[in-house]
Amino acid sequence: MVYQLTRESIPVLARETFEPENEDKEIWQPKWNCFCCHDSGIVNGNLVRLVIPDYKALSDKRPLCQNCEVSDRFHSDDLPEYIAASHDYRFTREICKYLDEFGRKDWSETLKLWHEKKKQGLNPHAEALSKMRKVINKKSMNPDDVEF
Ligand SMILES: [Zn+2]
Repeated sequence: MVYQLTRESIPVLARETFEPENEDKEIWQPKWNCFCCHDSGIVNGNLVRLVIPDYKALSDKRPLCQNCEVSDRFHSDDLPEYIAASHDYRFTREICKYLDEFGRKDWSETLKLWHEKKKQGLNPHAEALSKMRKVINKKSMNPDDVEF
């Protein structure tokens, strides 16, 4: 006999969480130490555009972060030429330090806004969704044309 579940017979399970819930906990805790490159060694694309406004992520050299040590491996003399040629070495320590501070400030302002919206009973994700819809509605889906 084949047993088929129905709306009435489908089991109701209790939730299973993988981390303790805390409503006041800040969401999106950054896991990186360096806000300039998010610990990747490559300057975050949004921050690059503060320095190179028309930066195109798919065709331009990738700027190396000088705010942390992650990109140190790219400064070796043993580096294959093709790797060295695909990276932008012009971002100085001062520039990257500024971008790190800018990224930190931007992050905390976004969090503050998120918590304010939540406190007002609004859906804090709504703004992000509406931003995403605008991107989707753009004629071009080229990631270089997306503004953040
Ligand atoms: Zn960095």
